[in-house]
Formats: sequence, structure tokens, C-alpha cells
Amino acid sequence: MNLILLGPPGAGKGTQSVLLEKHFGIPQISTGDILRAAVKASTPMGVKAKSFMDAGNLVPDEVVVGIVRERLQESDCANGFILDGFPRTVPQADALNESLVQLSRELDAVVSLQVDIHALVERLTGRRTCKECGKGYHVTFDPPAADGTCSACGGELVQRDDDHEETIRRRMQAYHQQTAPLEEYYRLAGLLLTVDGMSGIEDVQQTILTGLQAS
Ligand code: ADP
Ligand code: ADP
Ligand code: ZN
Repeated sequence: MNLILLGPPGAGKGTQSVLLEKHFGIPQISTGDILRAAVKASTPMGVKAKSFMDAGNLVPDEVVVGIVRERLQESDCANGFILDGFPRTVPQADALNESLVQLSRELDAVVSLQVDIHALVERLTGRRTCKECGKGYHVTFDPPAADGTCSACGGELVQRDDDHEETIRRRMQAYHQQTAPLEEYYRLAGLLLTVDGMSGIEDVQQTILTGLQAS
């Protein structure tokens, strides 16, 4: 199963990708996670990406395209992959098509999560992320067993640097200008699966699985 999860910041791409990863036994590839790890490790790529991420802008296409091209060639992607947060621009989608042709692979579906703007802001402001393992939580909708502590690894839960009001606004703008056109792009390719992302985490998961079976 070769999947893309598409949707605005806070739609639940990461949350659903982790569940799909378990369900299908294929890896989640989150360009956001990979970039944050590079920032944390202060690699040359991380240093370059940081200013874009802090401002709520997209990192240049060539950076993320390179990340994904290499990642797709790793052996754990042999049975499939879940792209979370990539592609985010039309040139990224074109580059992905090229990579997939080279690998003799095809996309099965592009899952587009539909969530209204009020819910997005509520989800992003309440999001907490484990400093150690990156697992995501929500203070109200998906709380950890113990306050401020990752249930999976015991790490400290923190708010992401870019999950603040000003940056959220800029990220939404970037989504509408640069990423939203991908819905039409994949609709024309016959791959788009539109999913109502407004219900609870488990319900959304079920809707995705049912939709994939039917597609
Ligand atoms: P969210 O989960 O809120 O949608 P991500 O963790 O996917 O956010 O991404 C965080 C930031 O990393 C983005 O705001 C952007 O700066 C950068 N980023 C992640 N993926 C991409 C991409 N495919 N293209 C460009 N920038 C990206
Ligand atoms: P994205 O990767 O699209 O930015 P996340 O998966 O990180 O989104 O989800 C954003 C926040 O919303 C997280 O705090 C997560 O726990 C929460 N969340 C995800 N899905 C739902 C849902 N269906 N209902 C309520 N909260 C959700
Ligand atoms: Zn953790």
C-alpha cells in the first residue's frame, strides 16, 4: 500500500499515519519529523530548514524532495509507505511521480483529511509532542496517562515551537496557497480519497480504512 496523507496543519495526518503504520505494517514517512530531527542535530540541512520552519513557511522543495527520494529507497519501504506531510507543493508532487517511476512503484491513494479551521486551531494549540520519541498527544482529545509525560517512553511532553498563534496563521496561509491545489492534482489522477476528519481519532481511522477498501 503506497499512500499519501494530505491535509492542513492539525488535520490529524501524523495521528492517522501512526495508526495506519501499525495496521498495514508499512513505515510512516513524515518530512516534518525528519526536518525536526535534523534541526535538533544541527546538521547542515537542519540549519538551513530552521528559519523557514520557525516562520511557518515551507522549506524549499529541493530539500524535502531529496529527503523523500532517499527515504523511499530504504528496505523498509519495500511493501509500501505512508507519506505524511509530503508532497506539499505541485513541484514536490511532480518530483514524487518521477521517483516512483524510477522505483517502478505507483500510488494507491491520497487520503485528504477535511477539518474546519476552528477545530484545526484547537487541535494545534492543544498539541503536545514527546521531546524524546516524537509521539503526539492532545491535552484534551488524546491526553497522556500522566500529565506532561509520554505514555510510550516517559519523555517530557512539549509544545512545538511552531504551534503558536502567529505561526499557525502563516502555516494555514502556506497550506491554502501552496498545498491545497494538490487536491485537484490528485483528483485528476483518480487517486483522491476525501475523508471527514472532524470525528474522533478512532472513527476517522475507520473511515479511512473503509474508504481504502472501496477504492
Ligand atoms: P503539521 O503536522 O503541523 O502539518 P509538519 O510537522 O508536517 O506540520 O511540518 C512542520 C514544518 O516542516 C512545516 O511548517 C514546514 O516548514 C516543514 N515541512 C514539512 N514538510 C514539508 C514539505 N513537504 N515541504 C516543505 N516544508 C515542509
Ligand atoms: P497533523 O499531523 O495533520 O498536523 P496531528 O496528527 O499532529 O496533525 O494532530 C494535531 C493534534 O490534534 C494532535 O494534538 C492530535 O492529538 C489531535 N488530533 C488528531 N486527530 C484528532 C481527532 N480526530 N480529533 C481530535 N483531536 C485530534
Ligand atoms: Zn515518547
